[in-house]
Amino acid sequence: MTNQDFPLIFELSQESRTGFSLPEFDIPESDVDDMIGDEFVRTKDAELPEVSELQIMRHYTALSKRNHGVDSGFYPLGSCTMKYNPKMNEDVARLTGFSHIHPYQAPETIQGALGLMYDLQESLVNITGMNTVTLQPAAGAHGEWTGLMMIRAFHEANGDFDRTKVIVPDSAHGTNPASATVAGFEAVTVKSDERGLVDLEDLKRVVDHQTAALMLTNPNTLGLFEENILEMAAIIHEAGGKLYYDGANLNAILGYARPGDMGFDVVHLNLHKTFTGPHGGGGPGSGPVGVTEEFAPYLPAPLLVKEKGQYVFDDDRPDSIGRVKPYYGNFGINVRAYTYIRTMGPEGLKKVSEYAVLNANYMMRRLQDEFDLPFDQHCKHEFVLSGKRQKKLGVRTLDIAKRLLDFGYHPPTIYFPINVEEALMVEPTETESKETLDAFIDAMIQISNEAKEDPEKVQDAPHTTIVSRMDETLAARKPVLSYTKE
Ligand SMILES: *Cc1c(COP(=O)(O)O)cnc(C)c1O
Repeated sequence: MTNQDFPLIFELSQESRTGFSLPEFDIPESDVDDMIGDEFVRTKDAELPEVSELQIMRHYTALSKRNHGVDSGFYPLGSCTMKYNPKMNEDVARLTGFSHIHPYQAPETIQGALGLMYDLQESLVNITGMNTVTLQPAAGAHGEWTGLMMIRAFHEANGDFDRTKVIVPDSAHGTNPASATVAGFEAVTVKSDERGLVDLEDLKRVVDHQTAALMLTNPNTLGLFEENILEMAAIIHEAGGKLYYDGANLNAILGYARPGDMGFDVVHLNLHKTFTGPHGGGGPGSGPVGVTEEFAPYLPAPLLVKEKGQYVFDDDRPDSIGRVKPYYGNFGINVRAYTYIRTMGPEGLKKVSEYAVLNANYMMRRLQDEFDLPFDQHCKHEFVLSGKRQKKLGVRTLDIAKRLLDFGYHPPTIYFPINVEEALMVEPTETESKETLDAFIDAMIQISNEAKEDPEKVQDAPHTTIVSRMDETLAARKPVLSYTKE
């Protein structure tokens, strides 16, 4: 589609055409000025496009189609789990008992909604193997920060004010060192070994009496399960540090392994990834945090508890780090996650991991002849390729990503993780069919062949989108968000 097929709504404007009629004004105009205040009263008419209802409808519908989402096509964005959003979740979230309640309502009038939150907390306790869960944090990174603030409170309660460092592997998600810094710690990097796993020797080197915690993304951002978790747990705990599990991508281990059983003290989950909350575009998300009994006193207040068969908010928590979110978390996302967990059941959740891992390994093995595979190991829910070979032909990973748009796919994550040259990080998710995976693999192979035979075709891509290459830095720094008449 070109801009000719898609005129800006202002350019369609015809004087006196209307799409909607407002009811007659029933207040004397002089009163209005008094009510609003002179400084706010418009002296000139607003410059709005004058269009019909049909025109405006088509405008917004066309705009909506310019977006790529999981409902429009394959979206293998590594480390983001863009899996499908069951439509049943939406029905349940819209039940008026959930959607028409107010956060200031007295708890005794919303026992059903609170019961759902409580049951979700309990389900997540079982899924993670932790002791208590809070639903307050609104995102994964927010959960990380909440967890680290609890670790900080714990050490301080023990008079341990020296523990100012958080160890973060170089294969961790980028939010980990950021959250550690925002929580007031110094982030210390531990290196990966040649297999892509945390280097235990390097870990022993960086751990000391100042270690507050190790934050482990597992599977790490290479999609690999950290095999030496028990050794790492022992090293950190012996040094008096605590263990933080980044469980954003729990769809790799659901029903098979639990952070609580591995010795972790604090874990966060991303309900908007593993548990089907729709995401992208900035949320809303939900990043519950689970802790061991030792950490329960520090959980954000209020904590939803069950007392004598009633769900109540416990605000009497003197050691709590306090509230981390107004009201009670993103309730609507929690309803969706609860619906998903209940419809899947324990066996279904186990299957989620099986298919997520199977799909990723299937794609990885079918692509390894055409693309470099820096860590040739059985992967979990995602895998990382390198575009090193194509780069020698003058085709960068960015070009491959742009060319994929011509095939109607959202590209994988690129140039991350940073310890892989020309990285392409692919997460197929468990919800895609073999046909979809095969079609994407075929497109990748075709692009690899084009890199050899017709590199310009890839370098100049995309060819089919409304706009081709953009100056992405400029677009982010100086976005043009409003229409200016020439
Ligand atoms: C997505 C992700 C995060 C951050 O979650 P947000 O909800 O985007 O803040 C943290 N860790 C890992 C491993 C992730 O995949």
